[in-house]
Amino acid sequence: MPEEKPAGQLVRMLRQQLESWQRAGLTHLPKARLQTAVPPACLESPAVGQTPAGGQTVSGGQTALESYRVLPIESDSSASGKSTKASAGQQEDRAAALARLAAKVARCRRCPELVRNRTQTVFGAGNPHAQLVFIGEAPGADEDRLGEPFVGAAGQLLTDMIEKGMGLKRSDVYIMNILRCRPPGNRTPTPEEAENCRPFLEKQLAIVQPKFICCLGACAAQNLLGVHAPISRLRGQVHSYKGIPVVCTYHPAYLLRTPAAKRQTWEDLKLLLSLMGLPIPTSSRPKTEVSDEE
Ligand code: SF4
Repeated sequence: MPEEKPAGQLVRMLRQQLESWQRAGLTHLPKARLQTAVPPACLESPAVGQTPAGGQTVSGGQTALESYRVLPIESDSSASGKSTKASAGQQEDRAAALARLAAKVARCRRCPELVRNRTQTVFGAGNPHAQLVFIGEAPGADEDRLGEPFVGAAGQLLTDMIEKGMGLKRSDVYIMNILRCRPPGNRTPTPEEAENCRPFLEKQLAIVQPKFICCLGACAAQNLLGVHAPISRLRGQVHSYKGIPVVCTYHPAYLLRTPAAKRQTWEDLKLLLSLMGLPIPTSSRPKTEVSDEE
């Protein structure tokens, strides 16, 4: 009969195991398994842990959602309740770093055709400390005029997806594009333009340090992940960018033209919510914008 360990020793062993997983890049544990009150041994090799640490793609969809219920692991500082001042300082630092980068972007002239046609650069907007970053394709006419990403009809739909669909606030997330200048006629960015702007994209992500990324549309997904697969194959799965879980879905502009795709986008948002360890709102979901009914 195996020797029974004292409760204190078991807690220490569990804590060491969790810290080891956290150092390895694991940020979440499956909620369903924790709820079954099975022993710690059942937490080994959780499916969701393969995503951020291993950079693998994992199938999503409704079946996967059920197995991806997750709970966030509290960081040391949040667990101990310390460092409110440090967080405020970090937020200031990130805002200042983003402002410095935005000023650099505003002077950028790497894409001559875009520079000739732009009204202004469109850097990005949102919470510098956001856990979730949305990445779109490029500024459109409204964004070029106002200097902010996703402010037209597609932007309103994105706001609804975030607020009515996911139950978050738009001001809590960070939103940016693959390009920071509008391509004439809203054409698709060329590979060269995406490459030119990539250092800015990477720097912005490095400053914000999101825990999750959502790519909106094929251009964003293919450029961020460095793949050529169509969005219909990239969506419904969990990808990885430098260890950060990435969910891809359709661009809101495409959803405005193709309402039938909203059902799949809702599945993708539910996958994202599950990864984030957040509840899936049922009553506040928009019935006309992103819904199961369509
Ligand atoms: S799209 Fe990016 S790289 Fe090209 S000019 Fe604008 S800021 Fe510079």
